[in-house]
Amino acid sequence: MIAPVFAANWKMNNGPTTAREFMLSFCSQYPKQNDRTIVFFPPALSFHSVAQVLGDRHDILLGVQNVYWEDQGAFTGELSVPIARDAGARLVLVGHSERRHVFGETDEDCAKKCAAVERGGLTPMLCIGETLAQREAGEAAAESVVTQQLRTGLSKMTQLQHRPFAIAYEPVWAIGTGRNATPEDAAAMHEVIRNELEELCGDRSRTTSILYGGSVNPGNASALLAAPGVDGLLVGGASLDPGTWLAIVRG
Ligand code: PEP
Repeated sequence: MIAPVFAANWKMNNGPTTAREFMLSFCSQYPKQNDRTIVFFPPALSFHSVAQVLGDRHDILLGVQNVYWEDQGAFTGELSVPIARDAGARLVLVGHSERRHVFGETDEDCAKKCAAVERGGLTPMLCIGETLAQREAGEAAAESVVTQQLRTGLSKMTQLQHRPFAIAYEPVWAIGTGRNATPEDAAAMHEVIRNELEELCGDRSRTTSILYGGSVNPGNASALLAAPGVDGLLVGGASLDPGTWLAIVRG
């Protein structure tokens, strides 16, 4: 993925009709650009609407917000990697903090999901980040949580040096709260993550995109993106309005 990467996580917002209207508006104002990567993670049932509007705009990538680790079978309500791939997804969010904290996903679950995504030929974007209590316990505590999430989440992938994957550092206390990490804090944690990645996959660590996420808006996006080691932004709330999202991705 060409950095900077701008990824929109719509969460459980924008049904098929709204998603189509959003994409028509966005695409008409955003001409193809080769110097950045745009990714949309729409809700599963809106995926087709978004893909239809995109047509042959291969400069904009699509992803799903979650998958199950089995390829098929009796898993009512779940989505598999082969189904996501067949629909046109290129990326999969794994371990978003809402999956972890609302639905009880563990680091082990994330590891199985990342492995399934890799096996299925898609790119996992593993989300990691400390809670407020963990941050308040001190920098070292926060770093150790993030490192643990990273190591376990990637532990079942077998092609780390050869297949693309991305990391999103999203401190839980910053998601949807209006309180973003400072560029300095983001840079410090991204450096910790990059160093861990270097141990895990050597040179690949330098080309792996590490995104920051948590209360990004048009007012703070440029400063966060300019922080050392920040290769992109994962955006929730501010990606729901075409005008706001355009202001962020245009930089
Ligand atoms: C997210 O959902 O990944 C996120 C970062 O949300 P928000 O931008 O609303 O904080």
